[in-house]
Amino acid sequence: MAEAPQYDAVARVRESFGRALESEPAYREMLPFFQALYELQEAAAETARPAVMDPAAGRPLQERARIPLDLPCATELLQGLLAAAGDANRDLAESAARLRACFEGDGARSGCCLRLFMEQGGGELAELSETVGVAPVRVAFFLYNSIWPSVAFHARRLAAEKDAGGEGDGGSCPLCGSLPEISFIEENGRRMLACSFCRHQWPVPRIQCPFCRNGDAEALGYHGSEEDPSRRIDTCECCGSYWITIDTRRLGRPFYAPLEALVSTHLDIRAEQMGYGRPEAAGDTVPAAAAEITSKNRLPMAHPLSLRRP
Ligand SMILES: [Zn+2]
Ligand SMILES: [Zn+2]
Repeated sequence: MAEAPQYDAVARVRESFGRALESEPAYREMLPFFQALYELQEAAAETARPAVMDPAAGRPLQERARIPLDLPCATELLQGLLAAAGDANRDLAESAARLRACFEGDGARSGCCLRLFMEQGGGELAELSETVGVAPVRVAFFLYNSIWPSVAFHARRLAAEKDAGGEGDGGSCPLCGSLPEISFIEENGRRMLACSFCRHQWPVPRIQCPFCRNGDAEALGYHGSEEDPSRRIDTCECCGSYWITIDTRRLGRPFYAPLEALVSTHLDIRAEQMGYGRPEAAGDTVPAAAAEITSKNRLPMAHPLSLRRP
């Protein structure tokens, strides 16, 4: 299998964020940190080499505890992300400083926490979060973003080996079973979903709720924005869900799913104000892990837009 990435992911992050800095003024303060995060992460994803999983073992990415990590790679990335957060807003910088102090001089501890995160060591992670005085959702934020390159390594191999080019099982990721983070329309008009955990992308029918699979156009709605024709809120009256769809043909920058989820936060807030929600995953599997770290929880900084929440 070819090891080389299909495109230079770091260059794509740089270009997408560079253009978003110009066109998304409400997000300008938070973009530099997230740009640094995704550049470090994509660079790490090119070198991460965890133990290879057996693709014959059903859907191996479904069970978080069974996903092999490249621990040295994840540990180094964790250090890099905590350092990069020093330049983020005061709140996040403080959380990062506390975690750095906790891990300093104890190299094994960060590796242990990364493993705990994968093994759903909820109790122990809660203890760490209490000891260092950092909210559990922020601890999870740094740990998840550090293990993602290992997850991406498996996801790419599985996608190539299992020919996961087909349509997914409704709204759950065909590789790891998590809920989608965001929907997007490709250049050729095909509608895709991007996974909130492994970031795999898969095609779905154009007119269908990704969550309850309702295909009745009468019960599906959308709410666009005049100032930004590239993004809209899609809604389903059958299950009360909403999702954000990006029309990449009108975007004006390379589509990078985590960035577009980030700069759609104002639409998440609007959708919630309109009474729509997102389904929540339950249980002890990858989908539950992804629920911890989906877009709203992924914003560990005081965001100017979130202050407008009623
Ligand atoms: Zn996935
Ligand atoms: Zn629905």
